[in-house]
Amino acid sequence: MKWTHPRTKEERFVPNEAIAACGDSGTVYLFNCNAGLAGGVTDDMGEPVHDHHPYRVFRENGQEFLPGNGYGRCGVIHEAPTDGIFVRGYMDNMYTAADEHIAVIIWGGWTGNEVHCTTNLDMSTWETTRS
Ligand SMILES: [Zn+2]
Repeated sequence: MKWTHPRTKEERFVPNEAIAACGDSGTVYLFNCNAGLAGGVTDDMGEPVHDHHPYRVFRENGQEFLPGNGYGRCGVIHEAPTDGIFVRGYMDNMYTAADEHIAVIIWGGWTGNEVHCTTNLDMSTWETTRS
């Protein structure tokens, strides 16, 4: 079984209909939600920041992804439907002056406003399974 992968400029993975018709709609990526630090990071002064979503997340073109919905590492493997929304972009800790510009692939729109990020930028290496 060969899945095509989203191109940089595409936001929605569109499975081949012939393949989808064979009952693969339940296929999920094992999405490693590993980017950045978890909540409770420190700011430039070394003071702890008690925010579970300390990162702002941006598309490659600089447009914020789901403005108002920050990101903090879950540190777990999510089952992300392969027909979900995957976007290349980057993220920045909003509590530090530095522009971390951490390159990530964003998985969003899970429940409408959740943001998850991985630093594994090669989607062809992502494992898949059935949900
Ligand atoms: Zn996550």
